[in-house]
Amino acid sequence: MRKNIVFISVFIISSFIYSQNDLGYTKVDSLDVLLKTSQKLRTENNMYEALELAFKAVTYAQNLNHNHYLSHAYFAMGTIQYEIIDYENAKAHMLKALEYSEKTDSKKLLPYILQGLANIYYDDNGDYENALIYYKKGVELAKNKVHINNYQIPLNNLIWTYMDLGKFDEAAPYLKEADSIDKLIPDSIQLGRTSLYLMRARNYAHHGDIESAKENFEKTFKLLEEEEKYWLKGKSYFYQYRAEMYQDIKDYPNALKDLKELQKNERKVFENARVKDQEITKIRFKVDEYERELEAAQREKLLLLNIDKNNKVIIYISLICLLLLIGTVFFYYRGYQSKKKSSETLRLKNIELNKAKSAAEKLSKIKSQFISTISHELRTPLYGVIGISSLLLENNKGSKNDKELLSSLKFSADYLLNLVNKVLKISKIDSKKTELVQTPTSLLSLSKNILRSFEYQSKEKQNELLLEYNNNIPNLVHIDSLWVSEILINLIGNAIKFTEKGKIWLRVILKYIDTKKVRIQFEVEDTGIGIPEDQKEYIFEEFSQVGSVYDNKQGTGLGLSIVKNLLQRMDSKIHFESNKNIGSKFYFVLNLRICDQLNAVSGDANDSEITTSLGFKILIAEDNKINQLVTKNLLKSIGCSCCIAENGSEALQLLKEQPFDLVLMDINMPILDGLTATKKIREFDQSTPIIALTASELSEVEDECLDAGMNDLVNKPLNKVDLKEAILKNLKLNNHHIK
Ligand code: ADP
Repeated sequence: MRKNIVFISVFIISSFIYSQNDLGYTKVDSLDVLLKTSQKLRTENNMYEALELAFKAVTYAQNLNHNHYLSHAYFAMGTIQYEIIDYENAKAHMLKALEYSEKTDSKKLLPYILQGLANIYYDDNGDYENALIYYKKGVELAKNKVHINNYQIPLNNLIWTYMDLGKFDEAAPYLKEADSIDKLIPDSIQLGRTSLYLMRARNYAHHGDIESAKENFEKTFKLLEEEEKYWLKGKSYFYQYRAEMYQDIKDYPNALKDLKELQKNERKVFENARVKDQEITKIRFKVDEYERELEAAQREKLLLLNIDKNNKVIIYISLICLLLLIGTVFFYYRGYQSKKKSSETLRLKNIELNKAKSAAEKLSKIKSQFISTISHELRTPLYGVIGISSLLLENNKGSKNDKELLSSLKFSADYLLNLVNKVLKISKIDSKKTELVQTPTSLLSLSKNILRSFEYQSKEKQNELLLEYNNNIPNLVHIDSLWVSEILINLIGNAIKFTEKGKIWLRVILKYIDTKKVRIQFEVEDTGIGIPEDQKEYIFEEFSQVGSVYDNKQGTGLGLSIVKNLLQRMDSKIHFESNKNIGSKFYFVLNLRICDQLNAVSGDANDSEITTSLGFKILIAEDNKINQLVTKNLLKSIGCSCCIAENGSEALQLLKEQPFDLVLMDINMPILDGLTATKKIREFDQSTPIIALTASELSEVEDECLDAGMNDLVNKPLNKVDLKEAILKNLKLNNHHIK
């Protein structure tokens, strides 16, 4: 049935004429050569080599991604595979050729592909239906072709297939067409004409026109004789169809004759086919082998490609990682560098800062030391001035004018002493020398005593002093009575200072209480001049004096600063409300622990005036002449006799020589200071009370004095009350009786 092999061979030869000129590629030159060589080899029956080149052409075209060449290369492959009866691959490749061909603008190859496909369907298990579809498409496309024989071949194949299917009526119009173009076909190409005559004969036989059929069979036979080597099978068809005709017209002898001829010819065809089949088998084997190798190579290539792809991915990932790593390292390095730099700068700054700090500390120490020394030094002469002026005033001897002058002198000295004491206090708070010492204290007694100490001043200014005390406040609370006194004294002092003919309240208000603690609010309110709005923010600054600017009030400008600092150290804060010409209210809150102790050191000192004459014999160890005079007079005023030693050594001597009830010992003295002298005295006399006289803060020297063997300390400048009290206290301890 493989009638078409010859047909295809004929038309393919001219199929590539146009291809090279259509494209300007240099690479395609080699593709053209490949395809042409493959075609040449195929016509020479070198199927294996032909297929090899066709494969190469496919690969090249694939690499170029060139649809035109892809369709040509697949067509070449399909054709060869069809010829070596590898229908499966032939069909697959021909369909591919069709696919790529449809993607190109040029449709020159399309009719041949359709023809090829139809042939494959026809020969592969006789799928005539599909074969007809492609033949018809092929005919339609080839209709207007310049090369008329390229139209004749698909037309013949279509007619032939219709006839094979017994569809003579459908074949009729195409047969007419084939007849009409036959005269246009040159005599050099007889193959198409041969098959046309045979089909005419078949058609006439089918329609019972035996004469015309016989005539065309004759014509066919003539041509077949000439074409035998090209179309051996043609003779078989000829004998087969004529025998069928004879059979139909019951001319059995002729039918038998033709069948015999058919048999003979078939033997030849078989022989030819056998030789060819052997060749084909050999080729198929080689081709299979080649295909396997190719497949393996392709798989390998794919694998390599995959590996390459994977490698590329790995390389990319590694590159990215490396870049990231370098970036990170760089980032950290920069970070490290800048950190190193900044830590170096920081270190240098630190050193500088430390230097500056120690310099500042040194300076501040020098400053406090200076203030402290100066203040102490100022207090000693002040002690003399105040003492002498007090004595002179008490003597009551001078004129009224002298007295006025004396009281001015005493006022100035008092003022100066107050200033010196406050400066000392500030410098102590600043240098954190003062420690908070909380002792069980009665707030009621403390408040009363403080108010009592202001009675004189407030009367002078015709002020009324009032205490408002909440009776639910526990008897004793833990408090630093000195600090609280200091605060209240400052506040009340100010209130009196800035109020005339008004009222001053000290309020102790219970804000909260439980079994262990109380919250107390202390308030000092006055009906004085008040603080102007624009000055309010400055009043807590050191040396700030609002009053002195607009009024002629006296003050150091340190009081409120002391209050603020002390409260800060006690975790509290000073608040105030003030209206000009209405009054001011200063207040603060303290959280205090309740004390369950029944007895405590209370703020109520025994301030009853001592008027009795004591009659003790006292030794004064003092090098300063004025102080000697002041102390001597003070002692005299309380009825005591005294002896004066110029220094510690003299005091030691005097004590060895005669008995004394008590010794008042200055600490700083030439030859032998008070502390050393005391130590020496204690070697032979442990009973005589020794009271230290000091211009320093008592807390500063207390330990030293007691360690040396002293019994008590009294601050300079001395006043009569304090001195008398100290003498009484120490002599009572030694079971002496007041005379
Ligand atoms: P000073 O020793 O001068 O009173 P303070 O620090 O105690 O210094 O007070 C600073 C300023 O605050 C005072 O000079 C005064 O102008 C103002 N001030 C303080 N308390 C009162 C008050 N109760 N009434 C009016 N002004 C006051």
